[in-house]
Amino acid sequence: MGVLFDIHTHTRRYSPCSRIDEQELVRRAVEAGLDGLVITDHHHQWQAEELATLVEAADAPGFLLFSGFEYSSSKGDILIYGLDAAAVKSFEPNQDPEQILHKALEMGAACIAAHPTRAGIGFDERIMRMPFHALEVQSVNLQPEEQRQARLLARKTGIPAVAASDAHRLEDVGAYALEFDDGIQSVADLKEHLRKARFRIAEAPCRG
Ligand SMILES: [Zn+2]
Ligand SMILES: [Zn+2]
Repeated sequence: MGVLFDIHTHTRRYSPCSRIDEQELVRRAVEAGLDGLVITDHHHQWQAEELATLVEAADAPGFLLFSGFEYSSSKGDILIYGLDAAAVKSFEPNQDPEQILHKALEMGAACIAAHPTRAGIGFDERIMRMPFHALEVQSVNLQPEEQRQARLLARKTGIPAVAASDAHRLEDVGAYALEFDDGIQSVADLKEHLRKARFRIAEAPCRG
């Protein structure tokens, strides 16, 4: 039994489209059976001290709360993990997806294509040559047919598949999760596991 993480979630503090109160987020994640969670607000990365405060307020010692951010390019959203605050600030929204992916990769980030096949806000055919570390193939924001297409895309490109909730509502936190084998203590550890594809999609989503 490894550790369960939901690596794609949004808070209403920094994602206007989310209804999730950050104070309730950690408690809900613990209830859902998760060991860790990554907040990926739109163009905003939480600071480590803020995250530590949330874990403390939720009285969940040992819970692994990290942050990356979700970048909206001119064609497709990219989940970016493992950059420092200054690096995150250097990302202007709405740029070319290939350029942004290469920039983030050069900076050493782990990069995942968010909802790559989602109607209207997915990627175009360029995704076939974009060297993501993983493609998101399941979330509450991907319809069954979009999930099928995303899995097909992962198979065709040979890129590993991940599942995450992309929760914007509290009840969706942990609806999909990733399982990692060994100890993840920091966002740097998480980044390395994502970069090396050391994870699997959790068999029983911890919805409940
Ligand atoms: Zn998105
Ligand atoms: Zn999202």
